[in-house]
Amino acid sequence: MGAAGDDGAFDRGAQAVLKEIFPGRRSHFHLLSEGQAPEWLFITCSDSRVVPDLVLGTEPGDLFITRNAGNVVPITGQDVDGCTATVEYAVEVLKVKDAILCGHSDCGAMKAALDHTALEGLPKAERWLQHVEAAFAHRQPLNAADGESAELASLIRGNVVAQLMNLRAQPSVAGAVAAGRLRVHGWYYDILTGRIEEYDEGLGRFLPWGE
Ligand SMILES: [Zn+2]
Repeated sequence: MGAAGDDGAFDRGAQAVLKEIFPGRRSHFHLLSEGQAPEWLFITCSDSRVVPDLVLGTEPGDLFITRNAGNVVPITGQDVDGCTATVEYAVEVLKVKDAILCGHSDCGAMKAALDHTALEGLPKAERWLQHVEAAFAHRQPLNAADGESAELASLIRGNVVAQLMNLRAQPSVAGAVAAGRLRVHGWYYDILTGRIEEYDEGLGRFLPWGE
């Protein structure tokens, strides 16, 4: 159970940050108060166990983040949504240098894609998760290291590939990549080990990242 385990825990947590953490970072926040210049756009799932700054060791001001169930980048014609609007702003205004699409192990959204009964009584989630159906066409080879979750993990990696293609198809992203000012990456984050794999588009498979 985290800090939200009982009434008042949020208050105590926020006060502890103000008293113990904020003072040591005052000059950093003074600088940040005047504007942001993040170099990375990070697109990931809403899952509470995925904490981008903890995964990457980054600080306030480093990552421009958009999250949703299943780390989806919708491609739905004229519709607008929070993710693609955020991508457009990050690329055209903030001019981020890297865009990372990050899926993760044990993803509930992808479990629901495998077993639709989990979505009964959830009409909005059911409709939203139609965006991950393309994952089935990009499933990755089973990896023994994933143990009993190998089938799920292969689908999660497939979803990273599918959403990475959707990301590349965004007009702002396509333009910036063509101009050589943006790189895009597809990652799989393993909650148990903390390790990241990056999708190698040339090889068509995931490789350990940062080793
Ligand atoms: Zn998830």
